[in-house]
Amino acid sequence: LTEKFERVLKKVTGQGRLTEENISETLREIRRVLLDADVNYKVAKQFIEDVKVKALGKEVLTSITPGQLITKIIYDELTRLLGGNGAEIKLNPSGITTIMLIGLQGCGKTTFSAKLARLLKSKKRDVLLVAADVYRPAAVNQLKILGKQIDVPVFSIDDSKDPVKIAEDALEYARQNKLNTVIIDTAGRLHIDEEMMREAAAIKAKVNPTETLFVVDSMTGQDAVNSAKAFHEKVDFDGIVITKLDGDSRGGCVLSIRAVVDRPVKFVSAGEKLDSIEVFYPDRLASRILGKGDIVSLVEKAQQQVDEKEAEELQKKLMANKFDFDDFLKQIKMLKKMGSLKSIISMIPGVGSAIKNADIDDKQLVKVESIIQSMTKEERRNPKILNGSRRKRIARGSGNTIQDVNRLIKQFNEMQKMIKMINKQSGGRGMLNLKK
Ligand code: GDP
Ligand code: MG
Repeated sequence: LTEKFERVLKKVTGQGRLTEENISETLREIRRVLLDADVNYKVAKQFIEDVKVKALGKEVLTSITPGQLITKIIYDELTRLLGGNGAEIKLNPSGITTIMLIGLQGCGKTTFSAKLARLLKSKKRDVLLVAADVYRPAAVNQLKILGKQIDVPVFSIDDSKDPVKIAEDALEYARQNKLNTVIIDTAGRLHIDEEMMREAAAIKAKVNPTETLFVVDSMTGQDAVNSAKAFHEKVDFDGIVITKLDGDSRGGCVLSIRAVVDRPVKFVSAGEKLDSIEVFYPDRLASRILGKGDIVSLVEKAQQQVDEKEAEELQKKLMANKFDFDDFLKQIKMLKKMGSLKSIISMIPGVGSAIKNADIDDKQLVKVESIIQSMTKEERRNPKILNGSRRKRIARGSGNTIQDVNRLIKQFNEMQKMIKMINKQSGGRGMLNLKK
């Protein structure tokens, strides 16, 4: 009986470990959410199974429930899977950078090529747009109109039916006119089609683009996945552009695409206007897929609990005057886990734009971290032994100057002194008491 009682209690307070039992309901709910967001059902099933295997047996901290913890684990894993590595677009510092866009008809290639041209122009690149869609005269006109709106030249050959030649001539034109960035808009088809693939592959082989971007309409569900797979096999590409995220779609197809094609998402677009182009943030899409509101606030709460628990432990050490460089490092890691300082601050409404140009230095955190990491265990626990030669070694080992190391140790000593003083004044009870 006691055992049973204990189990119920654990469920309520969230102490204990993740088990099949205490997370099954949450997993079912999340699976439904993923399917609603257009994630392919096989992908959803596999994803949840993988996360479950990894999560079972994990300890549940303090007052969060197993359901909350598994949700947070899922959110983190989803973010990781959507993210991948190296999402920046590659731009050659000298010579010509060529960007080629491929994808089905109607996915938003032509619109996106103008958006990208506008963005790169604002970064002081000299851009040339190339109309290599030879099947629809309207497509060439469409690009010309867009080019005029953003004041970017458009290269086209009126009576040519040869997109490879158009691309080649465009590069020559760029060379002669000292334009360093060429964006090639290619022809799509409504469905996967051998000729379209051959044509795109031929242009790619001839031009050897710096970046080939696959453009996909987020509203098209399983079609998006199939076309990604086909273009990946027949043409291959360096990155993905997701369009029409302003619609109802929650973007679940991105997870399905990433399950079959290991290429990073580089941009998203959410609107027909030419300024709606954004770099890709995996955590934002994860929130959207999981249905914004509820789940995200739940995840935030779970995160807060985890942080609070760590803060509490730190508090105990502070009171016992046992705060050392290891604790210092832990604190920095906690800060970093919250994202870059700049991005956190810029999310505060009203503050974001005002502070955009202010100099908030995340590098400083990295520096402090690297110095502490170059200390031995003994030095971290007992900073008093940090003499001149040790400091020199640490500076060299962490790639910092001796002044940097001295400054950090000085700050740390002052902090310790202050902690001691506070503890003394408050009769050892500590002034920084977290329990309000
Ligand atoms: P292409 O055939 O791949 O060149 O596609 P287009 O660039 O011609 O775009 C097809 C349609 O989708 C046009 O009506 C665009 O205005 C529209 N479109 C493109 N991108 C977006 C977007 O991000 N959001 C919305 N709502 N519409 C878009
Ligand atoms: Mg087009």
